[in-house]
Amino acid sequence: MSDSASPAKKKRRLLLPREEIAWFPELDSTLCNGCGDCEDFCKPGVFSLGAPEGVKRAKMTVSKPYNCIVQCTRCEPVCPSGAISLPRPEDFAHFVEHVD
Ligand code: SF4
Ligand code: SF4
Repeated sequence: MSDSASPAKKKRRLLLPREEIAWFPELDSTLCNGCGDCEDFCKPGVFSLGAPEGVKRAKMTVSKPYNCIVQCTRCEPVCPSGAISLPRPEDFAHFVEHVD
């Protein structure tokens, strides 16, 4: 299979400053087991492990929410516990334009 016929990939541009767009993951700490898979997976470094609570394993935190790429949802299925949720990408389409 060849992708030579694919159209040139367009660049994405945000229409507001990133900090004005409320797109980032939410974590359900009651479900998170601190496995670290999301932190390893997310290249922009949105997640970091919190401090351990006594003998309990540390929970993941969303330490850099505005590093999250608007409309990315790739870490959602990576979490084995279903602890990560993101908004619906179509609800944020008006914040993004695609340019050549
Ligand atoms: S949605 Fe994408 S950029 Fe955002 S935290 Fe998950 S993997 Fe990282
Ligand atoms: S992948 Fe899920 S369970 Fe593992 S640290 Fe991230 S949020 Fe927690």
